[in-house]
Amino acid sequence: MRSFVVILLTFAMASGLASAEDLRATPTGSQIEKLQADQIDIEYVESASPEMRPVYDLVKKAEVLEKIRSMLVDLRLPRRLLLKMRSCEGKDDAWYDEAGVTVCYEFVDQIWKKVPERTTPGGITPMDALVGPIVDAFLHEAGHAIFDLWKVPILGREETAADYFSAYLMLQFNKQEAHRLIMGTAYQYLEYVRSKKEVTIPLTKLADQHETPAQRLYNVLCIAYGSDTQEFGDLVTKGYLPKERADDCKEEYQQQAHAFDKLLSSYFEPGLTQTLNAHKLPPADRPPPRRGAR
Ligand SMILES: [Zn+2]
Repeated sequence: MRSFVVILLTFAMASGLASAEDLRATPTGSQIEKLQADQIDIEYVESASPEMRPVYDLVKKAEVLEKIRSMLVDLRLPRRLLLKMRSCEGKDDAWYDEAGVTVCYEFVDQIWKKVPERTTPGGITPMDALVGPIVDAFLHEAGHAIFDLWKVPILGREETAADYFSAYLMLQFNKQEAHRLIMGTAYQYLEYVRSKKEVTIPLTKLADQHETPAQRLYNVLCIAYGSDTQEFGDLVTKGYLPKERADDCKEEYQQQAHAFDKLLSSYFEPGLTQTLNAHKLPPADRPPPRRGAR
């Protein structure tokens, strides 16, 4: 029986059934495994706007795209994926479309503006407040790309699934780097929840495709805590994650891990965890260039 299957598969491959276009529909395990990883292209578009020139210089010098590409080197895709950074006429946005992933310099600038002068009382360093949200943005958009290119089934909101995809990958880094990425990512949302018991927002905000910043914050903190309650125990003791939510986060993480394993792991080379585990972020105690010092 097995040899019969092998013959059939060999025939399918030889007759060209496994071309990239065919794979967009319903790939089988063996077809996916035939695909090559290392499918990411990168491009820094020189900023036309003088205001965004410092951001262009910052990300180019820091080799942001090269580093993101190395995080995604194990990704198998039916075609190449371009990661691009450019200025967007004042729009601080990031998205995925047919052309690939685009992150605007204005988007990075918004993150850069909010970087704290010094390490926060909660232990978030200026470097992590800059690096975490940038990595999160690219991984989130890469999530959209994978969902689209592989036609991954999603039950629920794609924006939330992309957030979890990003958080799950960040948690595959070694413990120390994972902690830095999660807290850096959290930092961008913290201003919305800091020292507030209640928030007032226009009702229509709740209709957004994305969850509210506070929900996105608690989601990422919850699966981080659930992945390792020791390593991320400080999220609860420092009051970032309410105990009521924390109680079930282990199950939430296991649910994400199961979904990733069933739906997404075959789109990565088996070495994904080792690749991310070995990845080094810029030193946490090195201060990033100050936005004001231009
Ligand atoms: Zn999105």
